[in-house]
Order: sequence, then C-alpha cells, then structure tokens
Amino acid sequence: MSITLKNKKITNQAEKILAKYKLCDACLGRVFAKVEHGLTNNKRGKEIRKHLKQTEFTDICNCWLCSGLIGEISHFSSLISNSLNGIEFETFLIGSKVDEDIQSRGQELLDYTSSEYSEPIKMELNREIGKILEKKMGKKVNFEKPTIMIIIDTVFDTLKLQISSLFIYGRYKKFKRDIPQTRWFCRVCRGKGCKKCNYKGLLYETSVEDLISKKILEETEGSDELFHGCGREDIDACMLGNGRPFVLEIKNPHIRNLDLLKLEPKINAFCKGKVEVSNLRFSNRDEIVRIKNAVFRKTYRIVLEGEKCLNIEKLKKAAQTLRDKTISQFTPLRVAHRRANTVREKKIYNCRVESVDDTIATLILEAESGTYIKELVSGDDQRTKPNISEIIGVPCKVIELDVIEVKGE
Ligand SMILES: [Zn+2]
Ligand SMILES: [Zn+2]
Repeated sequence: MSITLKNKKITNQAEKILAKYKLCDACLGRVFAKVEHGLTNNKRGKEIRKHLKQTEFTDICNCWLCSGLIGEISHFSSLISNSLNGIEFETFLIGSKVDEDIQSRGQELLDYTSSEYSEPIKMELNREIGKILEKKMGKKVNFEKPTIMIIIDTVFDTLKLQISSLFIYGRYKKFKRDIPQTRWFCRVCRGKGCKKCNYKGLLYETSVEDLISKKILEETEGSDELFHGCGREDIDACMLGNGRPFVLEIKNPHIRNLDLLKLEPKINAFCKGKVEVSNLRFSNRDEIVRIKNAVFRKTYRIVLEGEKCLNIEKLKKAAQTLRDKTISQFTPLRVAHRRANTVREKKIYNCRVESVDDTIATLILEAESGTYIKELVSGDDQRTKPNISEIIGVPCKVIELDVIEVKGE
C-alpha cells in the first residue's frame, strides 16, 4: 500500500509540527518528501495544509526553518547560468553549502517529528535548481560523471565551478637536443625564481610539455595542464620515427569542442624545428594509466665514442651477443637521487652496427622500455652487465642518442 499525504499518520505529524513551528509550504512538504512522487515539496506542503483545513499561511521570508532560502532558487539559477556563459559542457551537477543555522534547525525539526519521509534542504535546492537549469540551458544533470560541478555557497552567495579535465592523446617527435620532456623547475628555488636560474624558476628555457600545451591552453582557455608521457627520452636525446605517445590533461577548460585537425598544424607551426605532434585525438583519464603502464619496445640510434680506434668485427660480435639478451642494470649514478636503488632486468631485442669510423660508431638498438642506454654502452662502473665497453674491451660513451621508434601503439 502506498502512503499518501491524506494518511492519518502524516496529517497528525503535520499538525504537531505546525503547532510548534511556522514553516513555509516547501519546508513543511520537505518533512514528507518521500510521500507521493512527482510533486515539489512546495506542492506537498500546500496539499497538507489543505487537508488540515489550515488557512494560516507562512510566507517564505518568515519561515522558521529556511528564513527565505527556498525563495532564492530562481536567483541561484540565474547566478549559475550567468557564470556558465562561455563555458562548453554537456552535463552538470549542482551541489550546495547551506548555512549551518538552517541545517541545525532542519535537524531539530527532524528530531521533533521523527518523520522517515524527510530529505535535507540541500537536496531540494540541488534538485530544483538542476531542473530549472536543465530547461533553461538544454543540458542534462549527470550524477556519475558531470562535465561541470557547480557548488553554491548560500551564505556568501558565491559559486565554485569544478570543470572536468579535457584529455588529448597524441604522439610527439623531438628534433632538438637539450629540451626536457616536462617542465624542469630550478632545484634551488623550486620554481619561484632565484639567482641560480636567472629568476626564471626553470632549469631549461622550454620543454616538450610547454611547447605542445601552449596553443592548446590558449584554445581551451584552460587554467593549467599536466603532461603524461609514455616514458621519456633523455634530455639530450632526440625523439624521432613515429613519435612518443602522450596524453595532455587540460585543467578547467572553458572550450572543449576543439577541431584537432586544425589545431595540429597550429601547434606544429609554433614548435617548428623543435617538436612536432601527430595523431591528435580526444582521450580520457583511463588512457593515462594505459600509456604509463604500457611496456613499449623502443628503437634507438646510438652514436658512441671509444677511447681508442674501434674494431668493426668486435662491434658486430658485441651486437650479436646482445641480441635477445636480458641485461641487468643497477640504478645509474646519474639518476640515483630520484630513483630507488635496485637491479632492473631489461630485454634487448635487437642490435646492429650501422657504421664505424675510427673511434666513432653508430648502432641501432631495440630494447624494452626503461632500458638505460648510456649505461649499456659505458657499463656505468660495472653497474650494467653485460655492457658494450666490456664486451669489446674498449671503454666507450654515448655522444648522441635518438629514439627512432616507439613500437606497439
Ligand atoms: Zn521554509
Ligand atoms: Zn631558481
């Protein structure tokens, strides 16, 4: 049996409430919010009063509970729709922060009535404002994953907008050395700017992140960004071939409907000679996890220099030895300050000699992601075993390193 507002228990409770508190229709109706669906609390309150043959009516402004707050619903709706001007979104959700006095009066009323059909006032505010905005803006409320979350502070009459990030996937190539993948803050001042960094806060003038995100931030009017690369090359290594996958996360974007086909050449014109992007498409947070955890093989072009003249036969033999070999690398000295000291096993899939000229040789090597290539060449004081220097019996070091392919995407 479904309960109606005419139910004896309900009318008795309502009578008891109205004998003690002056309530507006909505605040009265809210005590029985779960009785009879499809009504607003305001309508519920009116119906109850009718059954009780109550002629006395409390204006919203004189309501003991909300003292006028329920009358502000259309004001909050306009406040929100005005502040969403110029922001692109599909779905939204309203949240509200209500005056503590009103909340505690609501609790007092709940304790007094012990009604099991009541709902909190903020639930009514959120729902009714949501309904008005759905109509006014032609957008839908979404509880799971709204594009934009709007939180109303009813005490200060202010709004807080939480716009969900926009994710863009792409691949980048890097043609110039000495550009780090991500912004590298000065170690001394941590980005604030000091004498050491010439008051720039950065160790490097620019980064792949900065170069790629500049135009995208402009077009989306985002507040900030985060660059998620599928691994990273050394600062002094080029990234060539088909490029390295990345996902750029734009925070608080106002514009989300970008034409990525048109954006790509704009980014590339801006980064000309340094970085180039391709394969841009929209992405999501899950893809960040995917590219962060993915194990992609990488192919490198390594130019190395020996302490003395290099023998091509010995090098060819070394390349053969490394093919399909698993090497072990103890954390290199150069990164020991930021990576745990441990032995990592890495697989070398392929290695061949491209050219040898006196003390200089060029190798093409395909290895598991995360292999420390410089250490594979030098041996890093025997921290990497086996290593090329050891195999050919001549100490060598990398003088140029490029990633020429990231496989498996
Ligand atoms: Zn009220
Ligand atoms: Zn500094």
